[in-house]
Amino acid sequence: MRFCKHLLVIGLSAALLSSCASSPTGRGQLVLKSDAALAAEGSKQFAMLRKQMPLSKDPATVEYVACVANAIVEVLEGKDAAMYWELAVIERADVNAFVMPGGKISVFTGILNVASNQHQLAAVLGHEVAHVTARHTNERASQQMVAGFGVDVAAILLGGGYANQTRGAQQGLSQAVALGVLNPFSRGQESEADIIGLEYMAMAGFDPRESVQLWQNMSDKNKTNIPEFMSTHPSGETRIEQLIAHTPKALTLYNEAKAQGKEPNCQR
Ligand SMILES: [Zn+2]
Repeated sequence: MRFCKHLLVIGLSAALLSSCASSPTGRGQLVLKSDAALAAEGSKQFAMLRKQMPLSKDPATVEYVACVANAIVEVLEGKDAAMYWELAVIERADVNAFVMPGGKISVFTGILNVASNQHQLAAVLGHEVAHVTARHTNERASQQMVAGFGVDVAAILLGGGYANQTRGAQQGLSQAVALGVLNPFSRGQESEADIIGLEYMAMAGFDPRESVQLWQNMSDKNKTNIPEFMSTHPSGETRIEQLIAHTPKALTLYNEAKAQGKEPNCQR
């Protein structure tokens, strides 16, 4: 309940306390923005990004990423499933992927050199989808509001927590950074996205054990050249330990999915 307590400390009106929600893993959340408004802003930014970024023109690559993304989105239920999910595959060497509210996923082709099979790509996409369904983007926007800033949607949305330009934009708001309020996705949010993402990939029929391998690959790559995906995410070792701890439950979900005939075969 850290953010809710924070609200009390800085003396905002008690009415805002009703905005303290709970994330899917039971973590206290501060959610002040309307999901619909944020989704609309996400859509707008996503349309702009698709115009400005070099989209992949290789149908095999686009179909491969879409195949994995579709399988993940298919396990969603309720309002998460009802979101208008969209995907952009961007032709760039950066090891990066990010999300915008309302279900807009962007994948840089560079991440396909690290996520070396469909299961590992599912680990990336499960993690990204979880940031949306767990309302992390809304939390981040809400934290900015608490910090006394208007919500700089471009800064929040475009970086998705990975890209350097986002950190640059946030450094401009140095006081808030000093307060620790304006970090990209927090460690708690990242852990949560890992855990939920692991379940999503398993429910879709991807092998959750490959998630650990993905982070090993990220660490190996890290020795020579820090992938953006890695640079703003918690240390590899901690997250690998956490993933291993959650693997038994994920394996049960994986076996159930297989028993239901869910065995995706996404290939490039
Ligand atoms: Zn993340």
